[in-house]
Amino acid sequence: MKYGDFMKNIFGITYNDLETYFINNGDKKFRTTQLYDFLYKKRVYDLNIMNNIPNTTKEKLRNDFDFSFIKILKKQEDEDVKKYLFELADGNRIESVLMFHDYGTSLCVSSQVGCNMGCAFCESGRLKKVRNLETYEIVEQLLLIEKDAKVKITHVVVMGIGEPFDNYDNVMNFIRIVTSNKGIDMGSRHITVSTCGVIPGIMKFMDDFNQVNLAISLHAPNDEIRNKIMPISKAYKLNDLMDTIKLYIAKTNRRVTFEYIMLDGVNDSLENAKELAKLIKGMNCYVNLIPYNETENIAFKRSKKVQILAFYDILKKNNIAVTIRREFGGKVDAACGQLRAKTF
Ligand code: SAH
Repeated sequence: MKYGDFMKNIFGITYNDLETYFINNGDKKFRTTQLYDFLYKKRVYDLNIMNNIPNTTKEKLRNDFDFSFIKILKKQEDEDVKKYLFELADGNRIESVLMFHDYGTSLCVSSQVGCNMGCAFCESGRLKKVRNLETYEIVEQLLLIEKDAKVKITHVVVMGIGEPFDNYDNVMNFIRIVTSNKGIDMGSRHITVSTCGVIPGIMKFMDDFNQVNLAISLHAPNDEIRNKIMPISKAYKLNDLMDTIKLYIAKTNRRVTFEYIMLDGVNDSLENAKELAKLIKGMNCYVNLIPYNETENIAFKRSKKVQILAFYDILKKNNIAVTIRREFGGKVDAACGQLRAKTF
């Protein structure tokens, strides 16, 4: 597990990989269950107090793995939301947002430092990608926030900074770790991965994780508008994206969420609503209309309330399941697209 000077952090190791490690070292397979139980059920991170693990095994673990954590630098709170700023071992910073719902608590995790997708409306993407997050850096966002906020996180959305399908393997290992029934044991259906439409990622995802929810940041009903606000749509055309999503639905039998930001005068006309209805009619999907969160640095404006409601009505009349997203965290810049808007 050692790669040159780089020592693997224990919180990035999936159950299966840890089992292989113990077997390769001539140790007992059940050490995997013991260690996972301490780390993820008892939340004991100090090898010294893992009483049923023999000293020889502990010695080896100490040599082979890093047990360190990323750091919480700062926290901002509002009524139903807590935003956390983390510092990583190399000094980079990321954010996560904990939201309190009536059905539980959901955590919005980041998957990259910065983002290369370049969506015109998104504050988080103004910082270009510096690097992918390692699996352990995503897992530790959850472990540290549960401890700090003294809550059990029931849902995870991979909707923070970054494009998860631009960091596929690490994000997927994160999902393997949090869903392991030997550890955190979160239900796959409590996890949502959101993509701006990276087709190869969706193709892999439908084979690897057919129980994890998929959300698509659609934001436009045609290529003309989408090209203006989301550069990814030049690489992956809307038609091809829709075909891929239809394949996803056919293969997994799961409902897809389309996220649609309401941008004043850009994508919010009644014509746009009709075009959207036509585009997705008959698909097993629902639309989440997101009132745009304005930021200081970007000129887009939020659609007027009456416009959002009229748009909503047209989708409804076309028998499309639609909701208007409840707003969280606007006061502490923790809302969608606002992460890293201000260093706080
Ligand atoms: N890269 C992935 C994951 C990020 S999810 C994706 O694009 O899906 C973050 C969501 O917030 C995306 O749907 C994004 O389009 C949306 N968003 C970005 N800026 C926003 C803003 N200012 N107001 C509301 N939503 C925003």
